[in-house]
Amino acid sequence: MKICMIGTGYVGLVAGTCFAETGNDVICVDVVERKIKMLNKGVIPIYEPGLKELVDRNTSKGRLTFTTDLDKAVKASLINFIAVGTPPGEDGSSDLTHVLEVARAIGKAMNGYKVIVDKSTVPVGTADQVREAVSQETKHQFDVVSNPEFLKEGAAIEDSMRPDRVVIGVDNPRVEALMKDLYSPFVRTGHPVIVMDVRSAEMTKYASNALLAAKITFMNEMALLCEKVGADVNFVRQGVGSDLRIGHQFLFPGVGFGGSCFPKDIKALAHTAQSHGMTLRIIEAVEEVNERQKMLMTGKVKAHFGDNLKGKTFGVWGLSFKPRTDDMREAPSIVIVNGILEAGGKVRAYDPQAMDEARKIFGEKITLVDDEYEAAHGANALLIITEWNEFREPNFEVLRNSMKQPIIFDGRNIYEPQKMAALGFHYFSIGRPTLAPQNSAG
Ligand code: NAD
Repeated sequence: MKICMIGTGYVGLVAGTCFAETGNDVICVDVVERKIKMLNKGVIPIYEPGLKELVDRNTSKGRLTFTTDLDKAVKASLINFIAVGTPPGEDGSSDLTHVLEVARAIGKAMNGYKVIVDKSTVPVGTADQVREAVSQETKHQFDVVSNPEFLKEGAAIEDSMRPDRVVIGVDNPRVEALMKDLYSPFVRTGHPVIVMDVRSAEMTKYASNALLAAKITFMNEMALLCEKVGADVNFVRQGVGSDLRIGHQFLFPGVGFGGSCFPKDIKALAHTAQSHGMTLRIIEAVEEVNERQKMLMTGKVKAHFGDNLKGKTFGVWGLSFKPRTDDMREAPSIVIVNGILEAGGKVRAYDPQAMDEARKIFGEKITLVDDEYEAAHGANALLIITEWNEFREPNFEVLRNSMKQPIIFDGRNIYEPQKMAALGFHYFSIGRPTLAPQNSAG
């Protein structure tokens, strides 16, 4: 099939590449010239495991190309995906500027019948707006489909090649057959392609993200209570997650959720409800509790060192909003690092992939270093914010000897409290007891 993917970001680049991998001809379009130039030189502008190999293979076969020329790409394609950003507007609603701009551009470029697919996360009713925007620019026939994306950054290739489910909102049986055909190579293991009306498809994406955000937030709140009552959230998590109705995923407490999706999507869902005269009380509470959770680590640091952190240096491990990505959009690390800086502390930070993003966000305000030991060197305490695998088994002796004080605030519970106490660390984690360190003055 001839496919045009408009918006070559985390979603568009991965989805476009995976469609090319199954033999389709895919043209990825973006407005950012620098991005397209990089891709045409074989440089991947984002970090996503496995993506480079897949892009190389498909560009060398000629099935995957990159351009800024939307007009030409649309003319050459039957299926046109919209995968541009939908950032939060000032009032929390989803800003559809890019989506509707692209819809108009597709309309102008059309040279015959087209299928237009909303892959961006968009509020219920957006397909109608897209239809309206396109029809103002063209007399040609077209269909609008909602096909929300469920990939996770860090596992995006696997999620795209073997999705748990594919959701297709469509009202034309011929287009339904076309979309099922397009996705058939990805669901050979029996995962469902769920076909529904367009509005339900748009709603499904928000309901999924809201439930996931609520699950994390619920566990974060349980972790806080565990600390108060002297329970260990790790045991509680295992006990709760073993119930098959609940499951183990998304029960790990931490420093609050971030990323480019959950925060904006729950805001947009709450806004949709408000515009229909309804308050989503659970969703609004999720947002509020998550904001509190992001302040938790700085609060613990201040409870230990006092409100004034002047003269103290903090090593930071992990800045991306989660491991295996360079994405720092809405990352809790931003709130935590800024909290330390505002209290007068200094920060030396390391992240395996997000250093360029961190440089854009923090500039000269923090010191970015080349590895985790350098970040901890001379620090009064180490803050673990993102649970990259490489932080799981460090050389604790080297770490303890290089730090000014052997104190760790672990926002992801990656170590065992007993072991850390035995190694001489003063170890604070989330929802678990803090034990006195042995053989150390920390
Ligand atoms: P992104 O910011 O990484 O990519 C969007 C791309 O669109 C950018 O490269 C931007 O330059 C380009 N763009 C903007 N306006 C354009 C235009 N007029 N013409 C062509 N290109 C244009 O965003 P993303 O993370 O890929 O997210 C895209 C959408 O997918 C959002 O709605 C998001 O909510 C949704 N989504 C994201 C994820 C994720 O994990 N990132 C997962 C599921 C759904």
